[in-house]
Formats: sequence, structure tokens, C-alpha cells
Amino acid sequence: MYLVRTILLTACSLFASSLLHAEEPTGKVDARFKQAKDRTFRAFDAEKEQTWQQPFFFMQLADTQYGMFTGNKGLEKEKELCQQAIAHINRLKPRFVIVCGDLTNATPEQARYQAQVAQYHQDFSKVDPEIPLVCVCGNHDIGNRPTAKSIAQYDANFGDDYFSFWVGGVFNVVLNSSVLRDPSGAPEVLQSQQDWLEKQLQNPQTEKAKHVFVFQHHPMFLETDDEPDQYFNIPLERRTPLLAQLKAANVRAVFAGHYHRNAYGRSGAMEMITTGPVGRPLGKDPSGFRIVKVQEDGIEHQYYGLDDVPESIE
Ligand SMILES: [Zn+2]
Repeated sequence: MYLVRTILLTACSLFASSLLHAEEPTGKVDARFKQAKDRTFRAFDAEKEQTWQQPFFFMQLADTQYGMFTGNKGLEKEKELCQQAIAHINRLKPRFVIVCGDLTNATPEQARYQAQVAQYHQDFSKVDPEIPLVCVCGNHDIGNRPTAKSIAQYDANFGDDYFSFWVGGVFNVVLNSSVLRDPSGAPEVLQSQQDWLEKQLQNPQTEKAKHVFVFQHHPMFLETDDEPDQYFNIPLERRTPLLAQLKAANVRAVFAGHYHRNAYGRSGAMEMITTGPVGRPLGKDPSGFRIVKVQEDGIEHQYYGLDDVPESIE
């Protein structure tokens, strides 16, 4: 009897620990998702990366949005699409990967949130450890009306909501666009981000960058910089002064997601690039991602459906 009970107990604890492994990220996974700290991204050497080295490319993903296909009931379709994207990432070996928000469909206060975060962590921990994985917060990650609490929950799982980093002579700024869209629940966060951004853009080092890029979840605009306010853009009240500030700092391009299809526009010389979803599409563009080639004097970028990705990148 004692023996049977011991075997049963051992079997139960083995089962429990395997469940734990499926649900919870390991310490190593944790470290990968805690790189955005102290308003920078630790995987990149802050000193060395300020110098231009050679042309490179990175991959921009958006809206993995685990749970969207089934209204938070299942994660199978997103899992399949993300695993397909990750296989491309590991084959192509970009300089870095950035996921521009709506990592999950549930918001932090919803019941299915932690399970979706766990699945995201589990899948994206398979990205080659040599390839930095930068995560950006979207409206689903911190809510349509973000608060200090929802931002703290995001921070616990993915790190800072806004930060900057250098890669090979290029300066990159990641913004929390949900507070730009609706600051009413966290006006102090919008103010701190604004003060911080001003310092970042005025830093004499920024002027020496080959390019300055901005990454965020919401597009500033879809096609024209003065288009009327709507669900998918930043309200003119905050959009107009921010665009002026970015253009004055020679920002070359803003990269976003949120629209679940591609869109493109310009404000002066600055490109506004909206990228379709890895997860569920809302238009004719299939699930996919963007490849951005960075040269000393310019950039080239193209969106690829997951079934249409080249074998390698020149
Ligand atoms: Zn969104």
C-alpha cells in the first residue's frame, strides 16, 4: 500500500511539474523577456552599437495577438502562425526582431491573459538566442485606457513600455502609443514619456546616428498625416506636435502594427509604415511580417506573407 501511494505521489508530482513547464517560462526565458529595462534594451552594447558597421536587416512583426481567432477560447491558430514565423526568423538570422504590440488578445485584467502570455513566452523563447527579440506594448497588452497598474503588469512580463537602443549606428526609439491614443488613465506616464523623448531626440549623439527609427503599436496615421481621427490612428491633438518633433529630429521612419493589414504614408520625408499581423488578418494581406534592409544612406522594406518568404536575404 505504501509503495503504491509513493508511486502515485511521484507520478502526480511528475505530472504537475510537466504542467508547470508547459505553462511557466523557465529562468532563461524570463531573462530574454526582461531585456527592456532602465529605458534601454540590454542585449545591445550601448557604446559599441553607436558606430555604423555594415548594412544589416531586421524583421518587424506585429499583432501576434494570441487568442484573437477564437475570442480567447483557444490558441492553436496563433501558435501555428507564430511557430511558422519563428522558423523563418531562425533561418534568415536578422540582426534583431521587433514585435510591435498586441502580443496577446486578452488584456491584463482578463481571465485568459496569463495563459496567452505563457504561450507567447513559450513560442518566442525558441527564437535563436543570438537574435535579440524586442517587444512593444499594444492596446491589448495594456488596455485601451492604460493605467499605471496595467503598465506594471506588462512590465512584469515583457519589460519597459518605452525605451531606446542603438543597433549598428542606428538609433531606435520604442514608444507606448496607447497613452498617446488615450492618456486619461495615466496622464503622468504620457508626460514622463514626452519628457524622456525630448531628451532622447535632443541628445547630440542622436544627431550622429545614420538613421533614427521609431517603433510603436498604433500608426501615427494610415495614409496622410492630417487624416481625421479614427480607431486606428493617433488623435490629431497629439499626432501633429509629435510628428513635428520627430521630423525635426530627422526620424526616417515610424513602424507600427494594430491595423492587421499593411498601410503606408509619408509626412515630409518621414515614412509611416504600418505592418500586417502575424496573427489574424483583417484585410487582404495574409499573416506575415516585414523585412527591413538598412543601408548607410537609406532603407528598403517589404512585407511577406508567411507562405511567401524567401530562402535567404541578400
Ligand atoms: Zn491593437
